[in-house]
Amino acid sequence: MMDNFDFRNPTQILFGEGRVADLDSQIPADARVLVLYGGQSAQRNGTLDEVRAALGKRNVVEFGGIEANPRFATLMRAVELARRENIDFLLAVGGGSVVDGTKFVAAAIPFAGDTWSILTEHGANVTAAVPFGTVLTLPATGSEMNHGSVITNDAVKAKLAFMSSHVYPAFSVLDPTKTYTLPQRQLANGVADAFVHIIEQYLTYPVDAMVQDRFAEGLLQTLIELAPRLKEDDHDYAARANFMWTTTWALNGMIGAGVPQDWASHMIGHELTALYDIDHARTLAIVLPSLMNEMRDAKREKLLQYAERVWGIDTGDDASRIDQVIERTREFFEELGIPTTLAAYDLGSEAVDAVVEQLESHGMTALGERQQVTLDVSRRILESALAPAQLTV
Ligand code: NAP
Ligand code: FE
Repeated sequence: MMDNFDFRNPTQILFGEGRVADLDSQIPADARVLVLYGGQSAQRNGTLDEVRAALGKRNVVEFGGIEANPRFATLMRAVELARRENIDFLLAVGGGSVVDGTKFVAAAIPFAGDTWSILTEHGANVTAAVPFGTVLTLPATGSEMNHGSVITNDAVKAKLAFMSSHVYPAFSVLDPTKTYTLPQRQLANGVADAFVHIIEQYLTYPVDAMVQDRFAEGLLQTLIELAPRLKEDDHDYAARANFMWTTTWALNGMIGAGVPQDWASHMIGHELTALYDIDHARTLAIVLPSLMNEMRDAKREKLLQYAERVWGIDTGDDASRIDQVIERTREFFEELGIPTTLAAYDLGSEAVDAVVEQLESHGMTALGERQQVTLDVSRRILESALAPAQLTV
């Protein structure tokens, strides 16, 4: 049976080409705005200039340099700037890192006390946030329409997430043409991250949630269909539009309402990024196929449903179908150009020890939809991700 749930997502989506101009109607005319962005991509492809033009005569301060996997120390500089300038509205222009970073800044500005505790308390202590909007340039994380954020702190080698109902964006501009300048690596990462977001909410155990299951399967199939098209043509508007909307839906709360959720691949993956700076999506491709195999009994029914409905696998006995679908998932990542082993990053068994140690220190000792992913299970998952897989089919 589905769990009881509340559902509300307050983020307004402004979708389509040219929608950056609508910032003018979304942000109060007398707002003191802090525009946050990453490296140079938003400047180079003209998005920042378009944003500046749309903001018109408003009081605007800018803060650039938010890194991929946004850093606590960098964001605290933005918090100090915003406090000093009496900023009352934030605008994120960039990918998931800039959006996540902006969420943290929004919560930290009015926060009294040690702002790192927002992460160690996973957002439970957040009681207010400065309102903000986003202009998304990289479809991947779903952060543009959810209340989660992941922040890295180099000083303590930690990458931690927080969630708070106060950090839903007020609005997000989704203009598919803003993705035309994305390198293939980031497009592939976006497909993989969204794919795993859907899997984390779908591949658990059945609770007869027909709407969530069918939506999840449709979104997975859409990503599978889009992946080759995204490679072919940088200016395929329809492909980019569908991709953008799929990644938003993958993690905006809709398919996760009332169903068990896993998230072990993400939690283990975050440690790999914190320790070895591997791109977020790439860590997931290392962990997920091994995790599927390790949890094949606990996830049996859903693995069979996933095999049949998403990949059309309908031959062989149950064990063979599960082998086939795990292999097919691994191939999907490899076809995206994303390796699925630790060996591909020159990491060996010392990395397994290090990740398990990190998981322990962050209290990640009972992960997954049934808290079955103990440290021993995480260790086995990582061990079987060490080397190229033995093909089982
Ligand atoms: P990202 O880290 O925001 O960006 C990756 C790279 O793409 C950056 O170097 C950026 O360059 C570049 N880029 C962005 N837009 C571009 C464009 N239109 N053209 C050319 N280059 C562009 O990538 P992301 O995958 O969106 O975000 C990853 C982060 O989100 C991770 O920290 C991950 O843990 C987190 N995450 C959050 C959630 C959530 O729900 N909140 C879910 C999953 C993952 P510039 O710096 O120059 O702009
Ligand atoms: Fe993710």
